[in-house]
Amino acid sequence: MSVMAFVITEACIGEKASDCTEVCPVDCIKEGEDQYFIDADTCIDCGACETACPVGAIYYEDDLTEERKVFIEKAKQFYQNL
Ligand code: SF4
Repeated sequence: MSVMAFVITEACIGEKASDCTEVCPVDCIKEGEDQYFIDADTCIDCGACETACPVGAIYYEDDLTEERKVFIEKAKQFYQNL
């Protein structure tokens, strides 16, 4: 099943500010090697992380540009390989 969620994109790479992890009410953001990732299955679409991110790296899935859609799959892979 495919679910909509918020997605962390390229601005997180090398930045990893982690402010998002402190505001997420369901604790669904984990640190990967080069960036943080949101677990789409757990995300409740509250938008708190989007507001908290100091570099504007987080978007609602529907609002992603074509180039950024790769980050949906990147997050999926990350959680599949945990
Ligand atoms: Fe967590 Fe809300 Fe961001 Fe989803 S939208 S990752 S629930 S803070």
